[in-house]
Amino acid sequence: MHKRVPVIAANWKMFKTKDEALEFIFAVNGHMPSTDQVESIICAPAILLNLLVKREGENLRIAAQNMHYKDEGAFTGENSPAQVKTAGAEYILIGHSERRNIFNETDEEVNLKMHAAFKYDLAPILCIGEELDVRESNQTKQVLDNQLEIAFKNVTKEQALKTIVAYEPVWAIGTGKTATPQMANETIKDVRSKLAHLYGNEVAMQIRILYGGSVKTDNIEALLEESDIDGALIGGAALDHNNFLKFVEAAKNK
Ligand code: PEP
Repeated sequence: MHKRVPVIAANWKMFKTKDEALEFIFAVNGHMPSTDQVESIICAPAILLNLLVKREGENLRIAAQNMHYKDEGAFTGENSPAQVKTAGAEYILIGHSERRNIFNETDEEVNLKMHAAFKYDLAPILCIGEELDVRESNQTKQVLDNQLEIAFKNVTKEQALKTIVAYEPVWAIGTGKTATPQMANETIKDVRSKLAHLYGNEVAMQIRILYGGSVKTDNIEALLEESDIDGALIGGAALDHNNFLKFVEAAKNK
């Protein structure tokens, strides 16, 4: 049995000014457990990356929320993988449902971004998830398998091991509706079995798979008690630094 270090990732989305971001960082610095106990990550707006990286403290990691898959070019308003990397980010969120749904990102673009991440030595946090109609018509496994198959196309075992997968049912993001811990765990087990199909059991047992979707301080513990849930990707509730510390503390006890 492999020990998978739990992960708490806060997705700030398009929230926080420079001053608010600094206030958060100063409030949590010094209170973070070591990264071999919990990997604590802030997914920050690109414009704040550099500022946060300079002040992140030794046990906090910084992720970007998006990047283009091309090395460089005439793509006004976009950030390149090299820009994200040289701003100091270590992780990159890829395929968040808001990117897929609002900005029409496709599974194929997600795969291109996975390869761009590895090329620039950024660890992907790959988001997958189903819409409500998919869940209700019992097609969740099929849809997630398909998202995984395309996202991991031509990704090697070594690269897969660097990836964190976040299972985020779209109907649970920002809606206050959470999957029950049992439902989330069953689906995450299916995700792991698909990864085992792609890379073998040995690799699949080492990949961290997070749950995301209306995680709050009062449901994090029940979620983390489940066998296959290795942490959480949290939006709204993790904007508050006290909550973030509570999430990290809960993960420390997993
Ligand atoms: C997210 O942004 O990935 C997310 C899960 O948001 P929330 O926790 O607000 O549902």
